[in-house]
Amino acid sequence: MDKLHHVIIGASAAGLAAVEAIRRVDQGCLITVVSKEPMPLYSRVGLTHFISREVGYDGMRMRDDGYFDRMGVRGVMGVAAISVDPTARRVALSNGENLTYDNLLVASGSHAVMPPIPGTNLQGIYPCITNNDAKQINAAIPSAKEAVVIGAGLIGIQVVDAFARRGLHTTVIEQMPHVMPAMADPVSAAMAEEALREAGVTVRCGVRATELLGKDGYVTGVKVEGGEVFPCQLLVMAAGVAPNIDFLDGTGVTIHRGLLVDAHQQTSLDGIYAAGDVAETVDMFSGERVVNAIWPEALNQGRIAGLNMAGVATPYEGSMAMNVTSVLQTPVVSLGAWNSQPGDRYQIREVRDDRSRIYRKLVFDGDQLVGAMLVGRFEDAGILHNMIRTRTTFTLKPDHLAPSTIRWGTVLRAIHKAGRV
Ligand SMILES: Cc1cc2nc3c(=O)[nH]c(=O)nc-3n(C[C@H](O)[C@H](O)[C@H](O)COP(=O)(O)OP(=O)(O)OC[C@H]3O[C@@H](n4cnc5c(N)ncnc54)[C@H](O)[C@@H]3O)c2cc1C
Repeated sequence: MDKLHHVIIGASAAGLAAVEAIRRVDQGCLITVVSKEPMPLYSRVGLTHFISREVGYDGMRMRDDGYFDRMGVRGVMGVAAISVDPTARRVALSNGENLTYDNLLVASGSHAVMPPIPGTNLQGIYPCITNNDAKQINAAIPSAKEAVVIGAGLIGIQVVDAFARRGLHTTVIEQMPHVMPAMADPVSAAMAEEALREAGVTVRCGVRATELLGKDGYVTGVKVEGGEVFPCQLLVMAAGVAPNIDFLDGTGVTIHRGLLVDAHQQTSLDGIYAAGDVAETVDMFSGERVVNAIWPEALNQGRIAGLNMAGVATPYEGSMAMNVTSVLQTPVVSLGAWNSQPGDRYQIREVRDDRSRIYRKLVFDGDQLVGAMLVGRFEDAGILHNMIRTRTTFTLKPDHLAPSTIRWGTVLRAIHKAGRV
């Protein structure tokens, strides 16, 4: 019998997690990984740490160059998948090659969206998605005095942080009412904004950029609604991402905001799986469909997809929000159903100290902790994450858990009391 052939498009968090899951249960099958990007294998999470100079170029690497050989994988690097024929189970590549597959994993991530405003073709404007983008931004910094970042989400806020650390006078423009709208509540966002302003960053929320201004083909500023102009010689566009799925045109695969997958990470097409930023899964608390574009979820989904492709039926428990970021030394953490509103179902306990920039909000659904938002102190973020993810039920009451950092001993005693250990 021929060996099974798994083809994986994308060599990042989700794609490599799938490789490793497959190899754990099947050392004999064939695996081909196709990536539009050349070697090295690097982590996107490291990009802004490279820009800020916290790490060098090699500090972004997540696997060494011998990785594919050791894993028994054929790496086709610097080559794009350009189309898929789901009936013939074949992928066409930009180098002219055609790969037939038994299972295909789409782990192709997302790209930056350019808003439809004049001026986006000027020089000096960059997305911050690849190591090449980071290299170009890094090279542009010495000749820029002022920078603008459009978008204050996960990527934008980290770019702002890096620019501030590099001494650039930076303005961040966010159309929503506060920074980090998808990962922070108004209280946490206000604390983050204060940290940014203290570091000299200009923060403009609740306004849209309407035009990018230029001279001799180079960006010189950003005009916002109302006419105010923020000068810049360097602009990073972080106004959102969209899934990389153009090569699936004509396949008939179901797409909403991302590639719709079932509990086994399989798309609507037999033998085609999806994982990571490209996939639309289900939020484990709300049951709503979400594209949860974060590294830990890409790892989780890639692992689940890999196991299912290798024939080990493994359901995905659903995705969970988990954002940990540091805004100029102010850590901001949001977990699970952190954004639930108090009411019949949810109880919320908060501790807040504006002067010390400390905030701790825990969200309970009955006797289960379902969400948390932390600013400043976050030592127990790991414990809280675990309790939320595993839906721990314990005898400690919300009023005991809320005020301060939780230690494992306390939790274990409580679980023991409840007869779970
Ligand atoms: C600057 C930045 C900072 C971030 N910080 C954090 C953070 O602090 N915490 C966190 O949890 N998450 C963070 N993220 C998000 C995180 O990096 C992503 O969620 C994660 O990389 C998703 O992994 P993935 O494998 O799904 O896709 P990706 O990492 O996007 O990789 C997909 C790969 O597929 C390739 N590809 C695309 N199309 C094709 C094609 N047609 N053929 C072949 N290859 C293709 C792409 O070039 C890419 O190499 C950050 C992202 C960025 C950009």
